[in-house]
Amino acid sequence: MTAKIISGKELSQAIKADINKKVNLLAKKFRAPCLAVILVGEDLASQVYVRNKVKACEGCGITSILEKLPEETPEEILLEKIEQFNNDDSIDGILVQLPLPKHISESKVIEQISVKKDVDGFSLENVGALCTGMPGFKACTPYGVMKMLESTAINLTGKHALIIGRSNIVGKPMALMLLEKNATVTIAHSKTVNLAELGRDADILVAAVGKANFVKKDMVKPGAIVIDVGINRGTDGKLCGDVDFEEVKEVAGYITPVPGGVGPMTITMLLQNTLEAAELKSIKEQGN
Ligand code: NAD
Repeated sequence: MTAKIISGKELSQAIKADINKKVNLLAKKFRAPCLAVILVGEDLASQVYVRNKVKACEGCGITSILEKLPEETPEEILLEKIEQFNNDDSIDGILVQLPLPKHISESKVIEQISVKKDVDGFSLENVGALCTGMPGFKACTPYGVMKMLESTAINLTGKHALIIGRSNIVGKPMALMLLEKNATVTIAHSKTVNLAELGRDADILVAAVGKANFVKKDMVKPGAIVIDVGINRGTDGKLCGDVDFEEVKEVAGYITPVPGGVGPMTITMLLQNTLEAAELKSIKEQGN
């Protein structure tokens, strides 16, 4: 068996075309949505991520503001900058690129962002909303994964989903989103003992581990949907995921590639959240 590829690249283009239409409509009756991105320090990967986010905004007609702060920026200055953006009515979404330099508390920074502008969906209030089935911004990576699953048109009700990884930004919100769609969810992590066995029982396997080619074919149920969140450098220096794509594609029913899989979807859902933030603001200010 060779798995069907769920292309995040193609799906994200379709979603972005829809976002672009909605952005144009909103720009006519209100204004274009605006995302403020804050980058602290010189981390190379972060610079690339931020550049891609700003470029994606441009592609969809979303305005963006890029605030670059030096590595040694004191925490109070960053918190003040966020407060300034919170109070700026022309800004709909605020994103602080993680990781932050060691002297800055990530949780303080996340909580400083107004919940209405928290388009990354990391704040306690948005996580709480997800947990209790209330409206709020959803974390972009798992939100993108849900769109990929939706694109298969497979009903998730009663399916066993195994998520490998329990981080606050991927694993845990992923579990909650799958639960919301009536999947039976297992979360595995570094202390899990029977991982391969759990994998062989999973109809859906989401790998968010951060280890190149970690998921092998003996961990996958034949026909399963395998979603690869990982972004790693292989021994050959090339980008690769957490799933050994070449061997797992022979067993799985569906599989996502790296690159061109979850990565583009993450950015697209950030645009979606920014659009929604602006739409909510338009309704509040103009009643439509
Ligand atoms: P993290 O380091 O916070 O979490 C990794 C998780 O893997 C932990 O919960 C840990 O318990 C688990 N783990 C580690 N070793 C394990 C093992 N042997 N068996 C089972 N579980 C194990 O990482 P993260 O932020 O969740 O990111 C995970 C991966 O996803 C990374 O490669 C990251 O770069 C990537 N990522 C990609 C996107 C995207 O847009 N595609 C977004 C976020 C993260």
